[in-house]
Amino acid sequence: MVLGAGFGGLELASTLAEEFAGEIEVVLIDRTEGFVFGFSKLDVMFGRTSAEQVFHRYADLVKPGVTFVHAEVTAIDAGAKQVETTAGTFAGDFLVIALGADYDIGRTPGLAEIGHEFYSEAGAFALRDTLAAFEGGDVVIGITAGPFKCPPAPSETALMLDERLRERGIRDSSTISLVMPFPRPIPPSRDASAALLAAFEERGIEWHPETNVRSLDPGSRVAKLGDGSQLPFDLYLGVPVHRVPAVVEASGLTVDGWVPVDPATLETPWPDVFAVGDCAAVGTPRAGVFAERQAATAARQIAARVRGAAGGETYDGRGICYIEFGGDEVGIVEVSFFEGRPNGSLQGPSRELAANKHEFGASRVRRWFDREWAPLG
Ligand SMILES: Cc1cc2nc3c(=O)[nH]c(=O)nc-3n(C[C@H](O)[C@H](O)[C@H](O)COP(=O)(O)OP(=O)(O)OC[C@H]3O[C@@H](n4cnc5c(N)ncnc54)[C@H](O)[C@@H]3O)c2cc1C
Repeated sequence: MVLGAGFGGLELASTLAEEFAGEIEVVLIDRTEGFVFGFSKLDVMFGRTSAEQVFHRYADLVKPGVTFVHAEVTAIDAGAKQVETTAGTFAGDFLVIALGADYDIGRTPGLAEIGHEFYSEAGAFALRDTLAAFEGGDVVIGITAGPFKCPPAPSETALMLDERLRERGIRDSSTISLVMPFPRPIPPSRDASAALLAAFEERGIEWHPETNVRSLDPGSRVAKLGDGSQLPFDLYLGVPVHRVPAVVEASGLTVDGWVPVDPATLETPWPDVFAVGDCAAVGTPRAGVFAERQAATAARQIAARVRGAAGGETYDGRGICYIEFGGDEVGIVEVSFFEGRPNGSLQGPSRELAANKHEFGASRVRRWFDREWAPLG
């Protein structure tokens, strides 16, 4: 049983289908009707493609031995490896929790009333029209608290917004401020951080490190920061506070807010129950590339156990992050989190690496949905 058909769940189901070619039954459960890559949210928000183009329907998923169930998971009994869903009760020999992270919008007072969040599909897609209608002014891109998905995404948003406002001839009448609770934009990469800081400087993006946005004041339209300062805004683009989906917490599966796992095997304290991706406390950032590699490891652990073999592949904490710099240029950082202090070096940014990122998305759609896809249409 695989709960959640996101980056982790899709890779897990695909790896098991590949390994067993229908000899084992995999039930993949998700409450939505399709998958959207995180980076596609920014592509839609900045008008580079349409919501329809980036939606991958689970109904098109045909893998040997894999059954997709469109249902909400409402209770998880890890000891019994049994789950309750809106489509009935399911039980299995192995259970994988790949339910990702949800957002707690209410934890940032004022965000729902006068701000916009760009991390959910609905939020990012709605911002496409908001940005098209924006006539210039002060924009604040802010984070309330970590951990948050894809740490480069707020920096990418600042650079892509700068490009958009220039194209529309309203950059001179606008300011862009980026507020982040980190000392540098990408903590595990000095190179990438230096390149981003240089790009911010060159494009007049104001960088506010080591602080956060605590609240938005509807009366004065200012963002109140953790360091006591305030930033006025006409448009606020926020990263909401992240949390595990409520069902994971209510089922008693969390410690300090996330599902504990052995980072080498992704197994939880419950035997044959695994957790991968954003909902798990693995020690790597919350990003699709990490969820995917964790899922591949958990799948191989399960495969080894099904075959009665010892061991199975262990997780190495490695991942490649793509960073949009605007101007259709992308940089790549490869980081390893389990080999001492991470310090990934930056390649690019360049247009060739933008093509490489498009192929990254296309290759996943080929692998998971057996069809060709062009990320920007
Ligand atoms: C703006 C933005 C840009 C990003 N860019 C990148 C990038 O360039 N590269 C990258 O690697 N990552 C990127 N990410 C991060 C990436 O999207 C996530 O880290 C990744 O999707 C995590 O995979 P996952 O499988 O853990 O969770 P998800 O992919 O979120 O999947 C979880 C699934 O569980 C389902 N679910 C949740 N609760 C229930 C329930 N109760 N019942 C049934 N189903 C449920 C959800 O519908 C969802 O389909 C970005 C994220 C954002 C927001």
